[in-house]
Amino acid sequence: MAIERTLSIIKPDATARNLTGKIIDKLESAGLRVIAQKRTRWTREQAEAFYAVHQERPFFNDLVAFMTSGPIVPQVLEGENAVAKNREVMGATNPAEADTGTIRAEFAENIERNSVHGSDSVENAAAEIALCFNDEDIVG
Ligand code: GDP
Repeated sequence: MAIERTLSIIKPDATARNLTGKIIDKLESAGLRVIAQKRTRWTREQAEAFYAVHQERPFFNDLVAFMTSGPIVPQVLEGENAVAKNREVMGATNPAEADTGTIRAEFAENIERNSVHGSDSVENAAAEIALCFNDEDIVG
């Protein structure tokens, strides 16, 4: 198995409910290491750029409004199979379909306010990490 890096974001619904520590605990307990992290708030332009692939989806404007509604915690995770591992720990997009014990099953409010983002491929992870962090802020 390869050591990979992936981008995780703790979303505004989770920061509002003071759940950052509980979410990071689940990621670290699964063997993922946090090698970069910050708390920030996106502008509309940043959120639109990050979710550009979803531009044509009916929920795009709502998603951008949600992701700019409060603080977020982007973080780079590193570990064996980090992309798939992170998505496994996150659970399905819709919390009603997420496996027991996953972040979304435990913490998500609904399909939009679902507490975490995770890159879906190694290629997208590299692009998303570059959007959020400078090289010198990633310390493995
Ligand atoms: P993910 O990779 O599991 O985060 O899912 P997607 O890439 O398909 O969607 C990106 C984000 O858009 C999700 O995490 C949700 O916050 C939001 N989203 C996805 N599907 C819907 C939907 O049907 N309605 C709304 N309002 N938001 C959605």
